[in-house]
Amino acid sequence: MVNGKDFTSAVEGARKAFNSGKTKPIEFRKQQLTALAKLLDDNEDALCKALHKDMGRSDFEGYLCDIHVTRNEVILALNNIDEWVKPEKIKSDLMNAMANLSVRKEPYGVCLIIGAWNFPILLVLAPLVAAIAAGNSAVLKPSESSRHTADLLAELIPKYMSKECYPVVITGPEGSAQLLNEFRYDLILYTGGIAVGKLIMAAAARNLTPVVLELGGKNPCIVAKDADLKKSAERICFGRFMNAGQVCLSPDYVLCEEEIRDELVELMRTTVKKFFGDDPKSSKSFPRIINSRHFSRVRGLMSSGKTVIGGEVDESQKYIAPTILVDVPEDAPVMQEEIFGPVLPILTVKNIGEAIKFVNARERPLALYVYSQTKQLVDHVLHRTSSGGTVINDCLMHHNQFQPFGGIGHSGMGNYHGKYGFDTFTHKRACYEQKTPNMLLSIRYPPYNQKTLNRLKSMKENLPGELGTFGKVMRLIKLALIGIIIAYLIQNFIELKN
Ligand code: NAD
Repeated sequence: MVNGKDFTSAVEGARKAFNSGKTKPIEFRKQQLTALAKLLDDNEDALCKALHKDMGRSDFEGYLCDIHVTRNEVILALNNIDEWVKPEKIKSDLMNAMANLSVRKEPYGVCLIIGAWNFPILLVLAPLVAAIAAGNSAVLKPSESSRHTADLLAELIPKYMSKECYPVVITGPEGSAQLLNEFRYDLILYTGGIAVGKLIMAAAARNLTPVVLELGGKNPCIVAKDADLKKSAERICFGRFMNAGQVCLSPDYVLCEEEIRDELVELMRTTVKKFFGDDPKSSKSFPRIINSRHFSRVRGLMSSGKTVIGGEVDESQKYIAPTILVDVPEDAPVMQEEIFGPVLPILTVKNIGEAIKFVNARERPLALYVYSQTKQLVDHVLHRTSSGGTVINDCLMHHNQFQPFGGIGHSGMGNYHGKYGFDTFTHKRACYEQKTPNMLLSIRYPPYNQKTLNRLKSMKENLPGELGTFGKVMRLIKLALIGIIIAYLIQNFIELKN
């Protein structure tokens, strides 16, 4: 673990390890991934305890969201890495027909992975899985806000894995800025808020370092009047109140058609009671807000509109009850920033067209959720909007090891998870092996004249559906062959009859 401000040994060590070629052999990658799975398996209890200390998270949520999901990434990578790393053979055209065209899958080099506090294991280790699978070394910077988990990761990672290849740095914003500005990386993956995301991108620009930004924003949740309201209420409450709403993919606000609002609120009231009992504060399934700064920020947003469910807070425990607000004006503070807490405003619209307009008047979100039983309505919403990812009749579930995860516009750039993660951490190196005899290559050499130009034009590719000279000749040959076969069959048939 590197604590404090001496980052040189961490970054230079990771550079040296990468330059030595150590991280590239597939066997090494598999061994490190297996070690990572073992780290998770051996330390389930300790990791869940650390998550509980950081934000009062239940073992179930800790295991599901941080350990299980990360482990799934490891298993998928181990099962597929042999396939993923294979160079891709490319089909070409007439001009390149005799050459071997391929894409080699090569690591970028030294990556910097900066994680956020809300899923402190997942947000560092899932990108690490992709970085390892692709053959990189990586400097890991867990969030200082989830300090117990960060410290535990810094203790465990070097015990199980190569400490030169994957050093862990524990530091706050000031040290993070130093780590970012004073060293050079080959790829940076950052998870966190938009404001710091901009700083990351500006710092990376100095060295033209590629960045993946996994940011947040306000995720709309559109509920149409034909939706199954009971299921919708349960699924929205699950998404909003998991980890006390401190989830980048949480539905941030609901837009529902006017006539269903009151029924939806009542179904949510029943759901909150079913999930967390009469007193959510005493429920072991409901966590706390990460720190006093976020507690005050979220509490400040609760004064918008009318509270119909929850509303209770306890500063001493950083507790905010699962809260639903209605009659919230569009310009209320709660509608200006990502809530990132257990507060859900429900706004009404006259129709789905109005909901689409509302969404499109704002920055493109990380996720958009739509609840309806009509396929055309869902298709219409998806066709007319844009977001990092989308889920129909549920939420959060597109966060898995099979689909790309990432934002668009202000919610981020780039994506990862599973094969998409491998691709993100992989440089696609075009490789062209010339096999064409020199005689045929000579057309490209000067001096140029009309004859060489005509030869070049004779190789012109056709538009789809258009037959070129070669295609026309082939068609004639095909027709002639069919004619010969038919004539042969007729002749045999006549002979047989006679
Ligand atoms: P945070 O405070 O933990 O910060 C994120 C990371 O940035 C930390 O490791 C921190 O040390 C580092 N950091 C802070 N200042 C820095 C600087 N000047 N230079 C370099 N690094 C710096 O987390 P946060 O920002 O409060 O995270 C919450 C946000 O993250 C929300 O907006 C949420 O939506 C978003 N988020 C996105 C995803 C995703 O996958 N898209 C996942 C989780 C959270």
